Amino acid sequence: MIILGIESSCDETAASILEDGKLLSNVVVSQIDIFKSYGGVIPEVAARSHLEAILPVIDKAFQDANLLKDGESDWDKIDYIAVTHTPGLLGSLLIGTLTARTLAILRNKPLYAVHHLKSHIYSNWLDTNEAPVFPLISLVISGGHTQIIYMPEHNHFEIIGTTLDDAVGECFDKVAKILGLPYPGGPSVAQSAKSGNSEKYRFPHPTVEGLNFSFSGLKTAVLRAVQKECGVDISFPSHELKNLLTKEQISDFSASFQKTAIDILLEKLSHALREHPDVKTLVFAGGVSANAELRRLAGIFFAGSTLKIHFPEPKFSGDNAAMVAMACYYEIKSDVKPIDPYSLDISPRSEII
Ligand code: AMP
Ligand code: MG
Repeated sequence: MIILGIESSCDETAASILEDGKLLSNVVVSQIDIFKSYGGVIPEVAARSHLEAILPVIDKAFQDANLLKDGESDWDKIDYIAVTHTPGLLGSLLIGTLTARTLAILRNKPLYAVHHLKSHIYSNWLDTNEAPVFPLISLVISGGHTQIIYMPEHNHFEIIGTTLDDAVGECFDKVAKILGLPYPGGPSVAQSAKSGNSEKYRFPHPTVEGLNFSFSGLKTAVLRAVQKECGVDISFPSHELKNLLTKEQISDFSASFQKTAIDILLEKLSHALREHPDVKTLVFAGGVSANAELRRLAGIFFAGSTLKIHFPEPKFSGDNAAMVAMACYYEIKSDVKPIDPYSLDISPRSEII
């Protein structure tokens, strides 16, 4: 069974080919360089860039997989097409879904519209060494989502916790802006934190009931602490604070913020695990799961328990199409039916389907 995966939910254009769960190719073209000078993604520019990149990226995926006939992409070899459906930036999603839909109609292939968060979870199956064992809990931590999801088996998702305001990745990005660190914020904060003292500044943990999260207060707590450290009041423009900070202070703020965010995530996870004692594996997913300090501290936090901890390979933490094809592979194995390409609807949905 050969699946072509296509991903364009934000600022990465990606295509991948997967044969019976084994990766044949994985092509990702990132728009990071375009958006560095703006300090963030501009949706309209992202959509135009996807439009330019998507067909060459798909061709490259065929080349890298060695699926060529007379030097051209060999469409006869493809059994299914899978595409990121939602959530994401509307214009970006449109390019991927309309391309996939057109190809499915032209090449007469069954089409699967895959939820983006489901794909992030399935990035953990791309590591062929050891597949996660069910039942499991997945922590999805990305730029737009922070969710704890219980999975009793493949393709069954129960959201048991979610953020009530900002996502943790968004919080990393906003703290990076306050500290004057470059886009994308998460990796910049992680890099700056390496030389910082994580005990230097103390930030409160929000008291949110149950398994839900709140990250907007942490961002504001960092802002207030930076203002205090710089000796300015709360009316001082936040984008000018960076000019008043030393490199050492920036590193200490990065490390202290990062440690607090990780502690909040790990505390909620241990709460979720107490409520679901049957869980065998803890699976991390989404862009923030690339964070090396999170990986290190999660290992220490859960050391001594029988729980297995699974992170995606760092190259699969960010947006890619291999995870889309893998999620589709398990949809097919779970007997999910393809969609009618003519009725593809990309209206946003936040719940996993
Ligand atoms: P996603 O929404 O899953 O594509 O992931 C993007 C989010 O992950 C952004 O908010 C990034 O800042 C964040 N991110 C990426 N790498 C890291 C990292 N090493 N540490 C913390 N956050 C990260
Ligand atoms: Mg993503």
